Amino acid sequence: MEKIIGSIFGAAASATKMLSIGIGLTSEEITARLILAAIVAIPGAVVGYLVTVFMKSCHNRLKTRAELKRETQEEFIRQRLSPQSRKRNLRFILIVLFFALIGFSAINQVKLSKLKANISFAHRDKIEESQIRVAVIAGHGSIINNVYQTKGKQSPEWQDGTKIYEGYSTHMLANDLVSELQYNDIEADILTWNATDISLYQRVFKTNSIYNQDQRLLLISLHHNAQPYSKTADYVDNEALYGWYKGGASGTEVFTSPGKTKSDDLAEFVIYEISKAFPEMKMRVDLTDGDRDKEAGFYILTKTKCPTILIEWGFMTNYDDCKMIINRDSRKTFVEAVTKGVVKYNQSIKQKNIAA
Ligand SMILES: [Zn+2]
Repeated sequence: MEKIIGSIFGAAASATKMLSIGIGLTSEEITARLILAAIVAIPGAVVGYLVTVFMKSCHNRLKTRAELKRETQEEFIRQRLSPQSRKRNLRFILIVLFFALIGFSAINQVKLSKLKANISFAHRDKIEESQIRVAVIAGHGSIINNVYQTKGKQSPEWQDGTKIYEGYSTHMLANDLVSELQYNDIEADILTWNATDISLYQRVFKTNSIYNQDQRLLLISLHHNAQPYSKTADYVDNEALYGWYKGGASGTEVFTSPGKTKSDDLAEFVIYEISKAFPEMKMRVDLTDGDRDKEAGFYILTKTKCPTILIEWGFMTNYDDCKMIINRDSRKTFVEAVTKGVVKYNQSIKQKNIAA
């Protein structure tokens, strides 16, 4: 029993020495320390075992001598209560307390390091590395007081009750995207922070006002697509929607303004990540100009001074796409994919700045 306890103390002492670490370590560093501590614990246990064996043999020899000296039961009891014996007991208790203290402090240290490792975004020096500032726009107005603020721009109500309001969905996506970007040390703001439907002119005006102050700006506009029979068709009118009977168009498109601009670089990074995250989903690309983004003369794309991309994630007029759009997991996957693309674009800008 003593040998086992000795081994455990030895292992604990060695492991504790490896774990007596500073704060601010990353989770990888903590894992490396834990592995190292586990490895060091084995020789520690062996040493602890040997020390216990040695001490026990010493103790036994002393005990035999003491037994020889002991003549009566009274004397044995007297020895038990002797000051030496009390000292020995006290020493034992102190040693146990000492190891318990080391054990507790080691556990606390690991807990603290884990906490510190999880709040890396609070490091100011990292945030300053953002070479870009991202403005995110939700495609359309959302819902106020139970009233959808945008005309049209919604899915039909499918047989199982599924229904999407584009502005409502994209407002939530915009919030999620800004958070995810910030968690990844990218400066990001949402330009459509209230639910009202602001005009394209206002969107462009807001964006350009920020750009005039901060040329790192880039803009991401979030939408869901739709495929009505005619441009004037009301989205609520199921008969006027391709997808209602025929399945219709599906998939995702990323638009930039015509011509080769910085927007194309950003679009390429984002398209790459979205296709990787949704291998089953159709990426609707245009390869005629040498890249995969689609080019369009949309007001938001041509009138903004900063690099701008417009993402049409899924078709509201396609049932399967609607199921994807309302699914919490796929929304998370989408937001993470766009963020990865932006992070890689940020790194490319950083490398260009270093080279320049
Ligand atoms: Zn839209």
